[in-house]
Amino acid sequence: MNAPVSKDEPPSIRWGRAQSPWRDVPTSDWNDVRWQLKNLIRTPARLGELLGLPQGEQDAVAGLSKQFRWAISPYYFSLIDPTDPHDPIRRLIVPSSDEDVEEGLADPLSEKDDQVAPGLTHRYPDRVLFVVTSFCSSYCRFCIRKRNWKHSDAAGSREEIDQAIAYLRAHEEVRDVLISGGDPLTLPPEQLDYILGQIKAVPHVEFVRIGSREPVMLPMRIGDELLRVLDRHGPIWINTHFNHPRELTEEAAAACERLARLGIPLGNQTVLLRGINDELGTLKRLFQGLLKIRVRPYYLYQADPVIGAAHLRTSVWKGMELMEGLRGHTTGLAVPTYVVDAPGGGGKIPISPNYIVSAGPGRVVLRNFEGAMFSYPDGGTHVEVNDRPSASVADLASGLAQRIRPADHPHYARRAQLAEARRGHDGDPE
Ligand SMILES: *Cc1c(COP(=O)(O)O)cnc(C)c1O
Ligand code: SF4
Repeated sequence: MNAPVSKDEPPSIRWGRAQSPWRDVPTSDWNDVRWQLKNLIRTPARLGELLGLPQGEQDAVAGLSKQFRWAISPYYFSLIDPTDPHDPIRRLIVPSSDEDVEEGLADPLSEKDDQVAPGLTHRYPDRVLFVVTSFCSSYCRFCIRKRNWKHSDAAGSREEIDQAIAYLRAHEEVRDVLISGGDPLTLPPEQLDYILGQIKAVPHVEFVRIGSREPVMLPMRIGDELLRVLDRHGPIWINTHFNHPRELTEEAAAACERLARLGIPLGNQTVLLRGINDELGTLKRLFQGLLKIRVRPYYLYQADPVIGAAHLRTSVWKGMELMEGLRGHTTGLAVPTYVVDAPGGGGKIPISPNYIVSAGPGRVVLRNFEGAMFSYPDGGTHVEVNDRPSASVADLASGLAQRIRPADHPHYARRAQLAEARRGHDGDPE
């Protein structure tokens, strides 16, 4: 059933339920959220059995379990190739002795410093983050809110939710409420209905956003009852959280389709993770695959220095390199904004390769994705085309030359052919 949508992965790593220990489970059970939750993988012994872990590794997982909660749904687990110790899905979700719990911060984004009410972080001028649960159906090892798995500061009770709503009511500058967790779509539908209804009743809140990984980790959750609740309280935007093209299964595609059919615009936030998706081909397949299911890549996050996830972090330069490889090379809609969330509560800071190379009076020198450079006449200045061949950036800045282009580039070879053909045509005596 859950064969990946992506066609260009070799068949050997197309893993799914058909290859898994659950191949004989009736489809009606498999697609039932209650069955999935009843069969969560959550003990070191079961993990050991499924992945052939040596006793030492099982003991390490048992130790980690005391520190941080973990659980994996059979659906999500079925995407793991158990024969590959470096499997990206495994790296993302399975606790392991690679986790150094001496390293990293409990609250890397200092969300508590801006916490104004239970679960409510007010950091930016016109929008708030509202954490309504600490529960997820599977737990990512790089999660920035791991602290909540132990001592939750989410708004859990009715009282806490009402306190947060009272804050929203009192703050007219808040026009956008981002509901997150934990995973808000794991809440009982009545509770989500209550929260959304209360927020919608605040006159100055223009719309709500929900961040959820359920379309990825338990797509069968996106059922009729939940859809009815979401439909009642629009406009809602949903940002989901795909990290690897292998997660683009038929089930995940169907969940996104159900949401999109309600008119809910879908975005995606990806975390850049070492040994999981820090490779250009993988990211391209992920982002292009998302567009096929009508999900627009929104942010690519630098992995934050959260406790126990140092082995999953890349360098910021790696992120820059990957952004450089995406912009211009593929559909602009498939290119998210790369952001670093500054520790100490600085918020999201966009990081982009620099396309301005130099500047002179009335001119800037820009480079494009192919490595060509152009002298751009700035607004309000005299446009002069000086198409003298040059290899000097200074000539571009002063306007003495117009461009420097890479030699032997297929794009320019094609352009030269086109020019040649046009000349031939113009010279035609007919
Ligand atoms: C990410 C975030 C938001 C939303 O930011 P956008 O750039 O508008 O998507 C709001 N509040 C907090 C605390 C956040 O971390
Ligand atoms: S789904 Fe989101 S909130 Fe839940 S563990 Fe993963 S990153 Fe954390």
